[in-house]
This record gives sequence, C-alpha cells and structure tokens, in this order.
Amino acid sequence: MTTSLLKKIPSKLPKMIVFDLDYTLWPEWIDCTGGPPYVYDEASNAVINPLGESLGFFEHTATIIALVKAFPDIQIGIASRTHTPEWAKSAIKLLRIPDLDNSTLIENVDYLEIYPGSKLKHFKSLSQKSGISCSEMLFFDDESRNREVCKLGVHFIHVNTKTGITPFQFENALHAFASNSGTTQTKMDKFFIAASKSKTQIKK
Ligand SMILES: [Mg+2]
Repeated sequence: MTTSLLKKIPSKLPKMIVFDLDYTLWPEWIDCTGGPPYVYDEASNAVINPLGESLGFFEHTATIIALVKAFPDIQIGIASRTHTPEWAKSAIKLLRIPDLDNSTLIENVDYLEIYPGSKLKHFKSLSQKSGISCSEMLFFDDESRNREVCKLGVHFIHVNTKTGITPFQFENALHAFASNSGTTQTKMDKFFIAASKSKTQIKK
C-alpha cells in the first residue's frame, strides 16, 4: 500500500489519527452482539461467534488503515466507549489488514482507549500517553455527541453509519485538517515574527 491512492498529499498532516470502532470501522454495536469466543474466518476477514454472528470491517476500513500506515510519522489510536472492551479487543486481535502483510488491526494501532463514558477522557488520555496535542489529532466517529472532543482541539469527522469511512472522505478530511491547522499556524507564525521584530527594535 502506498499513498498513491491520494490525489494530492496535504502539506500538513495530523500526528495521530483516531478511530471509533462501532459504526465507524465495523457495522455493529459490538456490545449488542453475543460476543466471543470468536473464530476468525479468513475468506470474509470476519470473526464469527458460537451464535453464528459475523463481525467484519466496513468495505474500506482495511484500505484506510493501510493508507495511514503509509505515513510513518502518523500514529493510530482507537477511542471507543463500548461497554464490552474485552470483546472489542478480542475482535481487533483477529481482524486483518490484507495490504499490510495480513497483520491484525491491533498490531497496527499505537494507542487504545476502550471503555464507556465521555470521549473527552479518551482524548485526554491519548494526549497524555503520546505527548501529542489534541489539536494534532484527526478523529473519525459516527456519533455526533462525541463531537464534544472539539473542545480539546481535536479535528472531528462525522462518519456515515451505512458506509463507514470512504477513501474520498478520508482524503477530504486530511485536506480539511491541513487547511484548518495551516491557517492557524500561519497566523501564529506571522504574529511571532512581528513580535520578535518589535522586540529587536526595542532592544536597539
Ligand atoms: Mg460509533
């Protein structure tokens, strides 16, 4: 997998891209299923439980993860408020990314925050553990209520529950991140340059 899927690589990239799980990476609320034990089905890249329920990714999930991994400096985080964290962890230990040597999702994730409650807590923890400011994070989630993390500076992208993240949406999100962050950065730089010039003048 390369970045050739992107028409144009943005000038500024997020330092971490964070994904919700339910209805963002897969089309289920995992805590509304029967849960594990799971058996991995290679043909469908899905996990199947004793009730015969199958849980797999949305159509483009594996491609999106592979695309993020093509940028070596971008970390990957998961922020889920599921009531069954252990079930989610067992699923992501089994579901695979074909374009990344068939590695499992969990092998490609740098930070996991999976527990119920407001995602403000998830993001404060992600920032604390990684040393990355929330304003350097891009977050994909299907639930509008989780938009509250924008208060921390996170860039929130609302995901369609029927399709999950599409490559088109992903690329647009990267460009939106670059232009939003870029504008702030440029203005700040100008301010600091102006401030340092005036300081120099005062010294003289
Ligand atoms: Mg969700």
